[in-house]
Amino acid sequence: MNGSKNGQLLIKNGTICTMDDSFNIYKKCSLIVDEGIIKEIGPYEEVVKKISPGEAKVIDAGNKIIMPGMICAHTHFYGAFSRGMALKSAPPRNFVEILDRLWWKLDKALCEKDIFHSSLLCIADAIRHGTTTVIDHHASPNFIGGSLDTVERACRVLGIRGSLCYEVTDRNGPKDATAGIEENVRYLRKVKEKKTGIMRGSFGLHASLTLSEDTLAKCSEEAKKLGSGFHVHVAEAESDNIKSKDRYGRSVVERFHDAGILGPKTLASHCVHVSDDDIELLAKSGTHVMHNPQSNMNNAVGVAPVEKMQDAGINVGIGTDGFSHDMWREMKFVYVLHKLSERDPRRMGGDNVLGMQNHANAKIASVFWERPLGVIKKGALADIILLDYRPPTPMNSGNLPWHVQFGMDATNVTHTIIDGKIVMEDRIIKGWNPVKMAEISKKLAIEMWDRL
Ligand SMILES: [Zn+2]
Repeated sequence: MNGSKNGQLLIKNGTICTMDDSFNIYKKCSLIVDEGIIKEIGPYEEVVKKISPGEAKVIDAGNKIIMPGMICAHTHFYGAFSRGMALKSAPPRNFVEILDRLWWKLDKALCEKDIFHSSLLCIADAIRHGTTTVIDHHASPNFIGGSLDTVERACRVLGIRGSLCYEVTDRNGPKDATAGIEENVRYLRKVKEKKTGIMRGSFGLHASLTLSEDTLAKCSEEAKKLGSGFHVHVAEAESDNIKSKDRYGRSVVERFHDAGILGPKTLASHCVHVSDDDIELLAKSGTHVMHNPQSNMNNAVGVAPVEKMQDAGINVGIGTDGFSHDMWREMKFVYVLHKLSERDPRRMGGDNVLGMQNHANAKIASVFWERPLGVIKKGALADIILLDYRPPTPMNSGNLPWHVQFGMDATNVTHTIIDGKIVMEDRIIKGWNPVKMAEISKKLAIEMWDRL
């Protein structure tokens, strides 16, 4: 058996970090995966009785850590070719100039082939770093219709679990805005009707600063018909709020609230510039928030009031915003950023950070997937990673969050299993030739840079 979805998988002899609410750890433990679901957990002698000899693929964890795969709650697969790209203008001085001179030039230059290969690069990176679920936000104004199928194709080639959306915006005129709406509607219908296993969808919106009242109303109406929430950038920079207040007399959050965008199925990325009233609206509506510290620092937009939002009852998860595809690194930035910005080493404890990565991101994933994710327990989806991490000091459920902060990282990840399939084994990603891929993507990147 090759550990395919329909085959059984026995992972034996590991330390299971369940990442449940109490961060319980089970030593010398084994588990069985069947049909993409975790079926049994327990001592080897017990679980081995539940499989027929020769039926299951067996991984001997050899005392490695067995834990749920990472969930990235906000990313952009379309940006891989920006690495090393020179801008043809003066360096941007603020967030709007970053959009204008970098991202809105890059996304317009993307063709179908670029989208596919850019997605492949990002997905391979995610899998290598132990990420098993990604929530992507896509933009490609010159290839809108069918673009989400292209991203999906890349997800399926490497086998990552994904929720996709297309960012609706008015920045390229009404025709493109309509095409963006249609792409979301088409894809949402597709994933709903075809029950496409690892793939799900959301209704994508760019951000308040590029959305008219008319377009917001149309999106709200279409999403309601489909029973979908939204995936949108919210108050990432101060300028988003300034524009909203000048033009519509309300903050971004108030505007989205009035347009019916907020709610328990909606994912609001960033929320850096939110007032107490905004926080109350986000909390009351049950809207999820995604924190992306590396991106926020790089764009110099500010620090999101994460703990304040959590105190108000908002579920705050973590994304990378495409800055990297390494959730370990993102977690470490969450851990240190708030201590520095508050000049208080007591802020943002390791347990809070690990809870955001596992519990909050799992709650966000539950908007899309019916079975539990981000936890090792019976009945959960079998998204599992193995880590070659040998704790040099005692490790228990109480101090696990600090082993994650100061010990574990992506270099420890040896195996990535998604939906019961082994997609990376002993650090080799299945179906992935890094040398060949680098050759192809370099050629595509040069061509794309020329089109900027
Ligand atoms: Zn983003």
